[in-house]
Amino acid sequence: MKRILITGGAGFIGSHLCERLHKEGNDVICLDNFFTGSKENIKHLLGNPYFEMVRHDIVNPIFLEVDQIYNLASPASPVHYQYNAIKTIKANVIGTINMLGLAKRVRARILQASTSEVYGDPKVHPQTEEYWGNVNPVGLRSCYDEGKRVAETLMMDYHRQNKVDIKIVRIFNTYGPKMAVNDGRVVSNFIVQALQGRDITVYGQGTQTRSFCYVDDMVDGLIRMMNSPVDFTGPVNLGNPDEYKILELAEKAIAMTGTKSVIVYKPLPSDDPIQRCPVIKRAHQVLGWTPRVKLDIGLKTTIEYFKKKITELNS
Ligand code: NAD
Ligand code: UDP
Repeated sequence: MKRILITGGAGFIGSHLCERLHKEGNDVICLDNFFTGSKENIKHLLGNPYFEMVRHDIVNPIFLEVDQIYNLASPASPVHYQYNAIKTIKANVIGTINMLGLAKRVRARILQASTSEVYGDPKVHPQTEEYWGNVNPVGLRSCYDEGKRVAETLMMDYHRQNKVDIKIVRIFNTYGPKMAVNDGRVVSNFIVQALQGRDITVYGQGTQTRSFCYVDDMVDGLIRMMNSPVDFTGPVNLGNPDEYKILELAEKAIAMTGTKSVIVYKPLPSDDPIQRCPVIKRAHQVLGWTPRVKLDIGLKTTIEYFKKKITELNS
């Protein structure tokens, strides 16, 4: 039994990770400030002696005895990370320093949830880990993109200077149950709009691409990375390489929900990446990881989840 800290554990990916690691017999501490996360996501685990919930903001230091740290605490949806840009960069820079300080003190292994956003609006397609990216340092997305880039730098410097045992994963667009209804990212927006019979908001012409990974595959990749050989620090891309135009996703959401909603076009947000798709050769070779869930299957489960969620909200 390992003592595992998951920061951002009440959020979308974090709550799936809490559930899985708890089920595998670990002693799990879920830490969250509930900015975008929710108790709903983990309430079924509360009351178990091997699951603890700590309300805390990683911008402030914390002292805990743990063996592993999954550092996921950061708003992830553009709407939420731009809501308080300074808070976002603090969570990713000061928060990551605090978690690295903790890892150093208690000799815990730490995994940092980085992002495909470190590639910015990529000039190399698809993206390999060797690509250094094309990020605007002064734009609306910079608080998140640059925050995550600094977090990667901090991980590497603590590793080189203080021998901290680190792992860096670059997560590509992930979706699934437990996303918040008001999350604001594309998969949840389209499904919620379709189920509520509202207009489907495609930004720009919808020709920009993304590659969507189902959350169970992502959690599997995160755990494999955490338990990989000590000399493998990453960064490693985790994502599903099946690439779709945003307009195709909108059409799928309409077809799969059977809604009467129509597509409306809204302005493309500034610095919105034109194309994004991971090369996952490294994850496959070192971790033996390949995503298994096809988009149609994952969307079906996600639609079912949102149907239930919306019914609950209406009752
Ligand atoms: P999410 O918003 O659902 O979860 C983030 C969680 O972190 C929330 O529970 C939130 O309340 C918590 N949090 C935010 N700031 C905090 C702070 N200062 N202190 C403590 N808790 C804080 O988002 P998610 O999709 O589950 O993302 C989890 C992690 O994965 C994030 O670090 C995100 O950057 C990264 N990521 C996610 C995706 C994706 O597509 N889901 C893609 C790339 C990277
Ligand atoms: N998008 C959209 N409509 C929405 C939400 C998002 O067309 O209601 C687009 C957005 O402009 C981007 C893509 O979908 O091109 C993915 O956006 P998301 O916010 O999910 O994540 P990103 O990959 O941009 O961080």
